[in-house]
Amino acid sequence: MRLDIVTIFPDYFAPLDVSLLGKARRTGLLDVHVHDLREWTHDRHRTVDDTPYGGGPGMVMKPEPWGEALDALAPAGASRVPRLLVPTPSGRPFTQSMAAELAAEEWLLFACGRYEGIDSRVVEEARTRMPVDEVSLGDFVLAGGEVAVLVMVEAVGRLLPGVLGNADSVADDSFAPGAMEALLEGPVYTKPPIWRERVVPDILLSGHHGAIARWRRDEALRRTARTRPELLARLDPDSLDEHDRQV
Ligand code: SAM
Repeated sequence: MRLDIVTIFPDYFAPLDVSLLGKARRTGLLDVHVHDLREWTHDRHRTVDDTPYGGGPGMVMKPEPWGEALDALAPAGASRVPRLLVPTPSGRPFTQSMAAELAAEEWLLFACGRYEGIDSRVVEEARTRMPVDEVSLGDFVLAGGEVAVLVMVEAVGRLLPGVLGNADSVADDSFAPGAMEALLEGPVYTKPPIWRERVVPDILLSGHHGAIARWRRDEALRRTARTRPELLARLDPDSLDEHDRQV
């Protein structure tokens, strides 16, 4: 998968050389290109922002450098276009199912906003020539889009075939499409079986795969009911058996 990231802080993306994603880059599963937006400015100060029309505090990112950046990275009339992702608190919420959808794309282009955001005409114009998603990480405000892009790249990158050692592990994750879609994963344990007088639940040492799967589902249902009860409303009633309903 090819990723292009446009930012005024290219150094923010150093973590993409570390751990799973770093390995994915080295093995060629991820082809990441980070671009400095200021490359597409033409004044001595390499200006990317200006005062907002209508007044008010803060600055807005100018459309010209963004327009030139998008023209350079996704030229008009090219046979292939990337899917453009623009992080913003006013976008649609980023979810595991969106991560799975993006993992099926060949090419993603990320535009990192700063200040009060990017002049709105940039997204409007980009939509005329490529698919565009404005995406929010949650109901809070970050200082810039860089951290949001790192989050999205990690969530998408770990779903690419070959990136995780055990591909099955993503199917059991919280929010994984399928049985876990509206559930949080329950507690997990490793050796030793007793630590500071706290014991691992017997069932996990029993070797009974069916009973362990049942216990895990019960714990997932309980944890979801406890911390994110609103998710339970999204469970398909037909997918619940008698035991689920009792939990
Ligand atoms: N004035 C904007 C508003 O109230 O919606 C906030 C701008 S914020 C200070 C600057 C940049 O941070 C945004 O353009 C966006 O790229 C990024 N950002 C902030 N919060 C975000 C969130 N919850 N999700 C995704 N990106 C976010």
